[in-house]
Amino acid sequence: MTNRTKIVLKSGKDQSVKRFHPWIFSGAIKKTYGPLVEGNVVDVYDNKDNFLGCGHYQIGSIAVRVLSFQETDIDRQFYFNRLQTALNIRKELLQNMPETDVYRLVHGEGDQLPGLIIDIYNDTAVLQMHSVGMFLARDHIAEALQKLYGSALEHIYCKSSGTLPKKALEDEQKDFFMMGDKVSGVVKEYGVKYHINWLEGQKTGFFIDQRENRRLLGDYAKNRVVANVFGYTGGFSLFAMQNGAKMVHTIDSSAKAIDLTDENVQLNFAETTAHKGIAADAFDFFAKAEDTYDLIVLDPPAFAKHHNVLSNALQGYKRINQRAFENIGPNGILFTFSCSQAVSPQNFRKSVFAAAANAGRKVRILHQLTQPADHPISIFHPEGEYLKGLVLHVE
Ligand code: SAH
Repeated sequence: MTNRTKIVLKSGKDQSVKRFHPWIFSGAIKKTYGPLVEGNVVDVYDNKDNFLGCGHYQIGSIAVRVLSFQETDIDRQFYFNRLQTALNIRKELLQNMPETDVYRLVHGEGDQLPGLIIDIYNDTAVLQMHSVGMFLARDHIAEALQKLYGSALEHIYCKSSGTLPKKALEDEQKDFFMMGDKVSGVVKEYGVKYHINWLEGQKTGFFIDQRENRRLLGDYAKNRVVANVFGYTGGFSLFAMQNGAKMVHTIDSSAKAIDLTDENVQLNFAETTAHKGIAADAFDFFAKAEDTYDLIVLDPPAFAKHHNVLSNALQGYKRINQRAFENIGPNGILFTFSCSQAVSPQNFRKSVFAAAANAGRKVRILHQLTQPADHPISIFHPEGEYLKGLVLHVE
């Protein structure tokens, strides 16, 4: 704890951190004692010299990501303890997740480790750092993982080149293995198999956050004709097929994603003729669609990456949902999602409401969906809530 740079906040700018919000914005800082080195641990005090917390310093609008609100060393034991707590929670969850070996072990602020994501793919951990401090702590993190998992963990891949400031990686390879060398593998989600390549795949390789929603879709799939739009590796399609869908079309603008989906369909249902992959833009697909669907999934990428593009994003959600309402048959079911953190559940619902009104369909909300328990949200950090979804009955 000694020799850490001390940051003092302006009076009145300490309220949120006193309520355990883990971000300190650069504009809140009054004075600094000691050098500010990106990635270092700094101590944060209020204007009356009361300790508030310690965390990683970063150049940018979020200046400090608080790791602890107590005076503590941020050392190998600290990371071990945090990861142990995260793993204990997952172990309890996994008891009710049969035949599942893919899950999120660490979800940033939700696990009191701002800046760190760890996804587990059976015997492989994929690390994604969003702060320089977490990147610099990678050896402590890898060591803690090895201690906690023992021989069950054989590979650790650090995939942070897309999420860190460029200069943080200057002297390093772009992405690299910290242990082992496996680049891809087959994992299971409630018994459904996926071939995943964490080197080439989007994010850490897979959208783990839709697991419970994909499973729920299975309840509605029987005898329905399904369009899984923005399908990526085809997760929703596989659950639909497993649960007796009549026909499933997976639509994604990325031809590579469609190849991955076809591969996963083969892996699970070798002889099937009930699936077709379509590489197309979602709007073009709806404009040209000849078939009518009675179960549609819309899971687009984040339309709003920032608050200042919010109104465009809401328009985007309205337009794509309207296309779905116009296409869906009677007694249809629409699973519709937004993963934009900047879009609130209320705003998302309003966009979908406007789309339904424009399309002139009678719509009931059956379920309101969110992210699963292995993507927890700190109650002090509502920004951690990003995934929202509606399951709608369309008369
Ligand atoms: N539902 C998926 C995750 C979807 S991620 C799952 O369960 O795993 C969003 C996907 O949308 C990406 O694969 C991306 O390639 C695709 N995409 C982005 N823009 C698109 C567009 N305009 N039309 C169709 N697909 C698009």
